[in-house]
Formats: sequence, C-alpha cells, structure tokens
Amino acid sequence: MFAACLSDGRLYELLQRFDEDLAAEQRACGCPRCGGVLHSARYPRKPRGFAGLPPDYNRRLSFCCARAGCRTRATPPSLRFLGRKVYLGAVVVLVSALRCGVTPARMRYLEERVGVSRHTVMRWRKWWCEELIATPFWRAACSRLMPPVEHADLPASLLERFMGDALERLISALRFIAPITTESATMHAI
Ligand SMILES: [Zn+2]
Repeated sequence: MFAACLSDGRLYELLQRFDEDLAAEQRACGCPRCGGVLHSARYPRKPRGFAGLPPDYNRRLSFCCARAGCRTRATPPSLRFLGRKVYLGAVVVLVSALRCGVTPARMRYLEERVGVSRHTVMRWRKWWCEELIATPFWRAACSRLMPPVEHADLPASLLERFMGDALERLISALRFIAPITTESATMHAI
C-alpha cells in the first residue's frame, strides 16, 4: 500500500493543490496580528522521500505582513511538509504506519527508494506515540475521534478512521494533522 501511494504522481499534485488552497485562505484572512495585507514569503525546503518531486516542492508556502513595524510571518498549515521534518508528511505517515514492523525486505526498499534508515523509522514511531499525543493540538483533536484511536498504533489507527482507498485515507490523515504543521504549533525537528 505505502509503496503504491508514494510512487503515485497524483498524490503530489493533490497535496500541492491543497497547500495552495490553505495558503489562499490564510492570505484572505490577512495578518494574524494586525489584519494587514500579507505578502508571499515562501521559504526554501529540500524535502526527502521521493525522487522526481514537482519543482513546487522546493518551497513551503508562507506569508509576511506588509505593514512596517509588524512584519509578522504567517505560515499556513501544510499537507506536504510536516513541520520541520525533512521528509514529506506523506512519507512520515505511511512509513510509520507499517503495521507488521519493518521487515528486512521493506527496510531495503525504504533505504534504496526513499532514503529512510531504520533509526529514522524508530524516531518517527516515538514522535507519533509520545510527542504528538502530548501536544495541545492532539488533545483537542482527539475529542473528534470517538472512540479514541489507539495511541500505540499511531498513525495506522488514524488512517483506519477515514474512508476511501489508500490515497484518500492518507490525504484525510494529513489534513487531520495539518494544524500541527504551522510554526505556532509545538513541533520538534526529528
Ligand atoms: Zn501585521
């Protein structure tokens, strides 16, 4: 499932479109501090996880208040970039969701095609099962998931809550956790 999703070009086009929609919403709201006009202030990213990404993936969409003396940065949530993680959000979700653990064959695939080490997979698991669930975002978001998802099985337990095929469920999960991807959210680079 994860391999098919990650090599599906539609995924990257859809995520790009969703990020552009989220950015348009942010811009329409104006500066979160003074209500001033927001100017584009994208910042460079070098996401890992898939060869041949569209060129738009070199930039995270972001804005800066145009008003002198304010210049507040406003970064919309993203379905592509999971905070400061160097891997694409889709990769972090799908690789972490491997139910049966990482078999030697899968590990080889991950290392060769996606460039993810076993160590990285372990850190991601820890992030889902310990760090994410401790954030104010997750505690609030949890109330929308009834019955509660099994924390030890994250993110697989989250993917299961959504309808559709693998691609649709992945996008729904990325949308669900998107609020954590903004600068204001508590997020460590892992
Ligand atoms: Zn402002």
